[in-house]
Amino acid sequence: MTTLTAVRTALHASPSPHASSLNSLIDFAQISPLKTNTQAVIARFGPEKIDFPQKGRGLSPFDPATLPSITELRDILLQDLEQTAQDGTSQPEYFPPPSSCGESDDDDDDDAGNISEHDAAADLINHVTDADYETSGVIPHLPSSTLDALCNAGKENWDDVLFETPTTVSVLSANTPLTLQHHNESTSFSTLLTGTVVYVVWPPTPHNFTVLQDAYDAFATSSFDDTALDVSHRLEGGVTFVQSARETLRLPPFCLLRGLATTTAVLATYSIVTADTFVSMLHALPLLTSFWATETHGAAQKTAFGAALLDCLERILACEFEDEAKVRHPVAPRGPLSALLRAWDGVRHDVFGVLDAETTARMKRAWMAFLVRVVGRNCVLCGRKFMCKRNETRAHFEKTHWVGGQGEGGSEERVDSMGVE
Ligand SMILES: [Zn+2]
Repeated sequence: MTTLTAVRTALHASPSPHASSLNSLIDFAQISPLKTNTQAVIARFGPEKIDFPQKGRGLSPFDPATLPSITELRDILLQDLEQTAQDGTSQPEYFPPPSSCGESDDDDDDDAGNISEHDAAADLINHVTDADYETSGVIPHLPSSTLDALCNAGKENWDDVLFETPTTVSVLSANTPLTLQHHNESTSFSTLLTGTVVYVVWPPTPHNFTVLQDAYDAFATSSFDDTALDVSHRLEGGVTFVQSARETLRLPPFCLLRGLATTTAVLATYSIVTADTFVSMLHALPLLTSFWATETHGAAQKTAFGAALLDCLERILACEFEDEAKVRHPVAPRGPLSALLRAWDGVRHDVFGVLDAETTARMKRAWMAFLVRVVGRNCVLCGRKFMCKRNETRAHFEKTHWVGGQGEGGSEERVDSMGVE
């Protein structure tokens, strides 16, 4: 189901205004089918095969023989919901609907007759057996230890993993739109356990980032007017497809997407972030900063992202992903460390923007420790040759590669173990 005909058929079956909107997008905005041999379409997503979205049953981590039936799935999700409530996890269980097009922006916080978030989530799960059930809300990310245990053995086993998330479940009732958004920094594997979802996915090109970032900015400054996000037709290089039950979608980091669940859908997703994608996280910071401004809990998300960024950077600078323990200047032009060194001066101001004073100071210490361990008389960032590396490194780093950062008082770093060849 990767042809345009399949997409149109699925959209024509839906009475949702989002279906007709997606249909006109596909007609007028040069969207290609996912199943394409056109190199120009594939290349826009990136040079590697893994940069292009892929879909199929072969990607599924689930063994078809042990997949739960629809009623078993419902019971598993109800159990997981109770578990999540008991654990008291901070993630919202249920989101009210994205307001549909053309509706007035009445304040609907207390809609649904004061049903609690938890009961609304349970109600939606109770209806996953009904393909045409419609309700106003979604379950975005319900942790599911049961499904995770079922599929754990079938997950991808990649090298250089920074972190991997356990399986979470999204539940969308029939005709629920996925509004235009960016995919996060992970490569995700989403298996559709029931339902049908139509997607349009765009590559993370600089042009698309600019269009989406402007849209986020407009959305935030227009008191969250949905029409500000109506910029899909300005994006380049989109591909479209239908995801059917039991198919898995592999989505690369930072792709843009829009979609519509044309029938009630349950997606089980796990995600992997590899060290190789770290630098693309840094390049996405301006987009993310605009996105956080659109989110109710944006400040907390930004803080959490800054902390995760620091953890990743510390591991890369500790040479965890290098083949050899001793790193010397110049660093071989491959892998996350080399990519970080090349990108640093261009992205550091954006990085400083998401760090607080404490994480900035820690990041500076990680850099100093790294500079100390690199073998050679040159600055590993810009190649400048030192007369006395021991004495000059810190001042040079602060003056040239840390401008704009805080943590100037970090005098506790040791510079006395400098490896000079
Ligand atoms: Zn330098």
